[in-house]
Amino acid sequence: MKEGIHPDYKECKVTCACGNTFMTLSNKEEMRVDICSECHPFFTGQQKFSNRGGRVEKFKNKYNIK
Ligand SMILES: [Zn+2]
Repeated sequence: MKEGIHPDYKECKVTCACGNTFMTLSNKEEMRVDICSECHPFFTGQQKFSNRGGRVEKFKNKYNIK
């Protein structure tokens, strides 16, 4: 095995926009993310169906569908 082919991974402190921080392995020392496992809808189960519903309501109003 030759050295230097793979990036030099080290412990990386990831800071999420929600305030959560966690450690991972990366070739950077620090990272910022907008979404993490703590606040991602897929992980929290809090999907924002209300937004989708709002769009449907607008659509119905526009075309007078009841
Ligand atoms: Zn987060």
